[in-house]
Amino acid sequence: MCRHLAYLGPPVTLRALLFDPPHSLVRQSWAPRDMRGGGTVNADGFGVGWYPDGAAPVRYRSAQPIWSDPALPGLADATVTGAVLAAVRSATVGMPVHAGAAAPFAEGRWLFSHNGVVRGWPDSVTELAAGLPVRDLLTLDAPTDSALLWALVRHRLRAGAPPAGAVADTVRSVLAAAPGSRLNLLLTDGRTAVASTAGHALSVRADTDAVLLASEPYDDDPAWRPVPDGSLVEATPAGVRVTPLAAGRAGTS
Ligand code: GLN
Repeated sequence: MCRHLAYLGPPVTLRALLFDPPHSLVRQSWAPRDMRGGGTVNADGFGVGWYPDGAAPVRYRSAQPIWSDPALPGLADATVTGAVLAAVRSATVGMPVHAGAAAPFAEGRWLFSHNGVVRGWPDSVTELAAGLPVRDLLTLDAPTDSALLWALVRHRLRAGAPPAGAVADTVRSVLAAAPGSRLNLLLTDGRTAVASTAGHALSVRADTDAVLLASEPYDDDPAWRPVPDGSLVEATPAGVRVTPLAAGRAGTS
């Protein structure tokens, strides 16, 4: 059910985040430990977004499994960055497989990812979608639940909502319209990362000058902490805040 990762801290190579750890995101693409909600591997594409020297993020997305991409190892060796959002995808049954459906979704400084599924798609959320500008619906990256969730979060960000509010409000409204949905969202602007836990796993590792959020810990470092379900996480390299999401019921099956 997709796996994602965000890193904020001193510059590191993409290789150090994506390939080198014993349970790296690349390994999680073919041997994930926690695939609650279905699926066995995350082979329906991947994406990596990073921030070169404070500039707007660069994105590399593909519909191929991350392990088979011929360009990524070299790119990962050569790219040094202090902020990353990366994801590997296991497409929900019935949803298309192409690069546009792979996270991260992006606008301006923002990068976004979703682990999970919107139940009753698309009927359950048709009314929520109707609150978006028609242009946003016509320019979705893909006809998928994740792309619509990004449009809902982005709409709130554009209206001036703080990132934590945009994520929390979106999760609450989608859970109300589509109970049982799994909505682990992840959003960053390269300085702060916000995540929700609603039906899927998430762990946080705060080091002295860096922070990592990941669906699955990428190594056995005891600093990884599981985030309780139903939480909102706000993280910077300086600290992590976990508060209750106070949402409706997320999926458990
Ligand atoms: N439902 C989303 C998709 O199909 C996310 C999938 C997932 O988390 N496995 O892209």
